[in-house]
Amino acid sequence: GSQQVDRKVDSVCPFCGVGCLITYNVKDEKIVSVDGRDGPANHSRLCVKGRFGFDYAHHPQRLTQPLIRRPGVPKNLDAPRPGDWREAFREATWDEALALAAGKLKDLRDTHGKKALAGFGSAKGSNEEAYLFQKLVRTGFGSNNVDHCTRLCHASSVAALLEGVGSGAVSNQVNDVAHAELIFVIGSNPTANHPVAATWMKNAAKRGAKIVLADPRRTDLSTHAWRTLQFKADTDVAMLNALIHAVIDEGLVDEAFVRDRASNYEALRENVKGYSPEAMAPICGVPAETLREVARAFATAKGAMVLWGMGISQHVHGTDNARCLIALVTVTGQIGKPGSGLHPLRGQNNVQGASDAGLIPMMFPNYQRVDNAGAHAWFEDFWGMPLDDKPGYTVVEIMHKALAPDDDPHKIRGMYIMGENPAMSDPDLNHARHALASLEHLVVQDIFMTETAWLADVVLPASAWPEKTGTVSNTDRMVQLGKRALNPPGEAKPDLWIIQQLAKRIGLPWHYEGEESGVAAVYEEMRQAMHAAIAGITWERLQRESSVTYPCLSAEDPGQPTVFIERFPTATGRVRLVPADIIPANERPDAEYPFVLITGRQLEHWHTGSMTRRTTVLDALEPMATASMNQASLEALGLQPGDVITIQSRRGEVAIHVRRDDGTPTGAVFVPFAYYEAAANLMTNAALDPFGKIPEFKYCAVRIARG
Ligand code: SF4
Repeated sequence: GSQQVDRKVDSVCPFCGVGCLITYNVKDEKIVSVDGRDGPANHSRLCVKGRFGFDYAHHPQRLTQPLIRRPGVPKNLDAPRPGDWREAFREATWDEALALAAGKLKDLRDTHGKKALAGFGSAKGSNEEAYLFQKLVRTGFGSNNVDHCTRLCHASSVAALLEGVGSGAVSNQVNDVAHAELIFVIGSNPTANHPVAATWMKNAAKRGAKIVLADPRRTDLSTHAWRTLQFKADTDVAMLNALIHAVIDEGLVDEAFVRDRASNYEALRENVKGYSPEAMAPICGVPAETLREVARAFATAKGAMVLWGMGISQHVHGTDNARCLIALVTVTGQIGKPGSGLHPLRGQNNVQGASDAGLIPMMFPNYQRVDNAGAHAWFEDFWGMPLDDKPGYTVVEIMHKALAPDDDPHKIRGMYIMGENPAMSDPDLNHARHALASLEHLVVQDIFMTETAWLADVVLPASAWPEKTGTVSNTDRMVQLGKRALNPPGEAKPDLWIIQQLAKRIGLPWHYEGEESGVAAVYEEMRQAMHAAIAGITWERLQRESSVTYPCLSAEDPGQPTVFIERFPTATGRVRLVPADIIPANERPDAEYPFVLITGRQLEHWHTGSMTRRTTVLDALEPMATASMNQASLEALGLQPGDVITIQSRRGEVAIHVRRDDGTPTGAVFVPFAYYEAAANLMTNAALDPFGKIPEFKYCAVRIARG
């Protein structure tokens, strides 16, 4: 940022949940560079996405005009990639597009009942947008059929955490690794997916902390690790129960902690009896002595902290995986103090905040259950509208309900999707795209003609993150303020304005006065709805401080970086331990489909690629889709790096270049899900974890052929 600029505007990085604070440097109404700001999560550092991932906002493919599908043009599933949208859509005025969108959704509701509609909000939008979006669905559509990509991310972790410790958020912040003696990272590739957080882990290792990296893939953090546990994919519960078994077996249980602060310990102890490290070693592929050594180090460390990612959560046993992590920190007393605890690393920049704001089908804002009579009555009074008291459907369930038979009273017929791209991010894409295309009316609000917008009836051009003011909440429970640096291009509008315009036309009596579509007024209403968490974080305070950690209950409260110090927010005040047994993946390799497909992300590209693949520097760094296999797997198939292969599951296939990565386990192939031309989710399995309703993105069976 040394060049002359017209203005500098403070904001938050729009990519991952680390929540780095940034400054946009603007010249001639364009962002020309980004600087890292001294925020509590980043201390001026940025990764390559935060530093260079900004010029998508100026991309010529930005949507600048509302669009309406041309009559008689079918939703084309054979060409899922939008080419020139003019073949399918015509430009319209805002009045026409909003009247059509709201009118059709209202008609479907009035004809078929409140269950006929659903909405997907976005973990890339602000807290204020998430709050208003769920309020629109609950009070305007009339049901709790509202969800977002948290369902694909940490839904299982949150299910286990709410059940076990009474709160779905992290107990300790990432930079607390500075106070840990042992850092247990499992099912996470932080150098690619939470890069600045990974630098704090590496710093901790340099001053002597032991990193234990547990993952079926050996990733970059391994070079900084004291022990790398490259366990076999899908054997998380076997390995974690073996660690708990070893802690008990070697007399390292924190007896006082368990006595005073846990419940159901006897059941856990009984259950792990059959999981000795010696019995589990052949199953998980980690030597028994290594498991015992790690268990000992974890239990005896002054502080041991667990951080995890999608490798834990995206399994049909994702909730069980997280239950085991809760049990591990509880029996060792490694929670409720600095340098310890549970940290599910949040993926999207606002997946924590969007969930907090109620963008989930079973909870009102701040995790008030929709089927709790007290919470239900409170929100009916607060919003002045009758509310449904049954949990709504989740992301994958909504796709199934869109394809339900016509006489199903819960068939979903109309949807409003803001800023999400399920036509790329859902499992089993052929099914998901078919479901989206079969809706009687689909309204999509986004900044590009995404694969999902391509299947819409009305497309509403929205604002990119630098074009609006709002708050986002990072993985550390920090509520952080981003300010508008630019105006949206053409006729594109702020999302908060669009939501309110639709609400008005559906008949909701909303009035949010003030600048930028009343963002401060929306925030204040949300703060009241979430007073038990953020009462002390006023809009004025955010203007002054940029970032405040919750829980924060008063103007004087600095925010609580470590929670559960005295009690857990469960009914009993104690951790509830829940034993877990081995449940195999829904689809195991067999003679026909002998390889395991693992999907995930890479450093340079973000999720479905709609932003980063339209960013000059990031696209230049990683311009095309690649699949990773190790040398042994390549040799077994007679392949060379650079060859084109076809990967095929029972549901779909992609053609893709193969690259060599010896960290990928033998018999497995890793594919990032950011590339439309080789969409990994064509192959993934929609089987769900029964508690979190999260699909099994991390494991399905595929076969691989050359060419
Ligand atoms: Fe942005 Fe995450 Fe990178 Fe920080 S670590 S710059 S929040 S993508």
